[in-house]
Amino acid sequence: MTQYDYDLFVIGAGSGGVRASRVAAAHGAKVAVAEEHRVGGTCVIRGCVPKKMLVYGAHFAEDVMDAARFGWHIKECKFDWPVLRDNVAADVSRIEGLYTQTLESNQVEIFHERATISGPNEVRLASGRMISASKILIATGAWPAIPPIEGCEHGITSNEVFGLDKIPERIVIAGGGYIANEFAGIFHEFGSKVTLVNRSDKILRQYDAQIRDRLLQISTMNGIEFLFHNEFTKIEKMEDGRLRIHMSSHDPIEADTLLFATGRAPHTKGLGLEKAGVEVDKNGAVVVDDVNRTTCPSIFAVGDVTNRVQLTPIAIREGQAFADTFFGNKPTKVDYSCIPSAVFSHPPLAGVGLTESEARNTLGSVKIFTSDFRPMKNVLAGRNERALYKLVVNGDTDVVVGIHMIGPDAPEILQAAAIAVKAKLKKSQFDEVVALHPSMAEELVLMK
Ligand code: NDP
Repeated sequence: MTQYDYDLFVIGAGSGGVRASRVAAAHGAKVAVAEEHRVGGTCVIRGCVPKKMLVYGAHFAEDVMDAARFGWHIKECKFDWPVLRDNVAADVSRIEGLYTQTLESNQVEIFHERATISGPNEVRLASGRMISASKILIATGAWPAIPPIEGCEHGITSNEVFGLDKIPERIVIAGGGYIANEFAGIFHEFGSKVTLVNRSDKILRQYDAQIRDRLLQISTMNGIEFLFHNEFTKIEKMEDGRLRIHMSSHDPIEADTLLFATGRAPHTKGLGLEKAGVEVDKNGAVVVDDVNRTTCPSIFAVGDVTNRVQLTPIAIREGQAFADTFFGNKPTKVDYSCIPSAVFSHPPLAGVGLTESEARNTLGSVKIFTSDFRPMKNVLAGRNERALYKLVVNGDTDVVVGIHMIGPDAPEILQAAAIAVKAKLKKSQFDEVVALHPSMAEELVLMK
């Protein structure tokens, strides 16, 4: 008989927490999870999933416009935001239900309330109930970080963007990262006038320079405005409800909506970590070792709250590794090398492995192969958007160390190509593969 109420108590039912809970339970552990918002966490409720649905919805704007060149005449074309918004919300609720079902069918007990840590083996629920557990897993994710500017409360974040009453005529987006570029594309396609304001002159700085330059060029050509080297100084709410946004080196802009996309901070505030000696770093991220153990031996953490790699599939892998290691007798460590990632901008971009500049800084010899082409669909549509694919090759070994691309369906294509980079395949092996014609992906095996 265990001396604790549970073998594992998980705080946070997002991607990492749900995976860890259900796998630990399947290994035979007695598990409970507490969630103060909705089961599914950021990815399912207010992130990847609803965002991708909006990306699909937004893309119709281009498809409908291009349709005439393909012989389709669409008489009346009108976008109805509440229809899309409500359908997305309904599907999110459906997925939330599936996540809840998965937990319940694995006998994981769910507490729909906030939990905080009150000791190395003890949590306190918002209702006041104290619960003991042999192990505690912190999987509380991250939360939008907003720079402390006067009037910043008038802006919204990705938490609120899915529930807007109407599409803004004019929107200002703060930041130049994932969320900023994805929503710049979405709102532009929905007909908003979009201005993206960033403190530096680089968007998406972790991606290959040539690829992000192409996104900037296409976005600008499409009518998205970029203001670089600008920080907000004050946000004023005017009498008509619109906002006047003051910046460090630009005249004020008036807009209906201001969206902050200035990064996400680990969600550790008020969690009681100090009561168990759990150390956090200067950004508030829980410090863990390579088996996800914090500085308190009975407390662990996975996902965005550890600020290692803020991506859903990584949180899932960390949750799985934790459960397998400590409840499945199968010690597992997450391999963080060669993580493919994508930005669902318009058009999307994706990358895996070393960028050209990373390769030049770390390898003795580097060969670059590029294909800069206009996809067949764009040619017939009269759309002047070019795709760009890039292979980064170690000049000494011929191994492909990075693939970077921008163009239609780039994330779909890159997921398959990432296998080759992870497997350390050589450029000569790419060349041996017969092209699949006509496709965009064939460019990957035709670069000379
Ligand atoms: P990002 O880290 O991608 O970008 C943050 C942007 O905000 C950068 O341009 C940064 O500038 C700027 N910034 C940061 N702090 C400030 C500040 N105090 N004042 C002004 N500007 C600031 O964050 P996002 O919010 O876009 O996304 C959060 C995370 O969510 C991402 O890191 C990503 O891991 C994940 N995500 C993943 C997606 C995907 O996989 N497709 C989609 C959406 C989110 P600078 O470059 O100068 O630092």
